[in-house]
Amino acid sequence: MSSMDPSKLIDFELVNLIKFCHDLHQRNKNNDEYEEQVMMQSLEFGKKTKEKTLILDMDETLVAAKFDGKQPKGFVPTFSFDFSDTKIHVRLRPYLTDALEKLGQLYEIVVWTAGVQEYADQILDRIDPEKTIFKKRMYRTSCVKVEQFFIKDLDIILDRDKESMVIVDNSILSFAFDLPNGVPINSFMGDEKDDKDLLYLISFLEEAFY
Ligand SMILES: [Mg+2]
Repeated sequence: MSSMDPSKLIDFELVNLIKFCHDLHQRNKNNDEYEEQVMMQSLEFGKKTKEKTLILDMDETLVAAKFDGKQPKGFVPTFSFDFSDTKIHVRLRPYLTDALEKLGQLYEIVVWTAGVQEYADQILDRIDPEKTIFKKRMYRTSCVKVEQFFIKDLDIILDRDKESMVIVDNSILSFAFDLPNGVPINSFMGDEKDDKDLLYLISFLEEAFY
């Protein structure tokens, strides 16, 4: 075996992204405008039904949604819907049903998308038609805009301890201000042959994290 270069083990892109998140937080955390946004967005989840709360992103985490004509080759939609004057094609990520069912036994599950409600509800109504899976749906209006980013800041949630919340998102920037609570997941684009990330997420959140 050839000798290994230790620098090859480091994902510098990831390191730089985490540093960027950290710096973004440092630049903005004590700023009045930011604090005011957090206060304005504040909300409560209500009665606690599990010890821990799992906050799931939607796009590219639970589903791949593509504008008509923008689907990658090999993209087979689970369903499609009309939106504005176009069509959106959605593929559910493999193991989604299993993940929501298994994780729902351990966590109260909230979905938090940076998408707008009129769009997101069309997808969430398919995933959770009876509204029994997601304790709450949160949209772009709950994100805090920092520089050009929509940040999901856990500080807006008033009735849960930080330590009891986990946020899963394909974009690390979403939880830039709560890195210790974040679990990144690979982006689901919908043309993957054999995507098992939600299966891995189940084990991770059942065993490693809980
Ligand atoms: Mg996403």
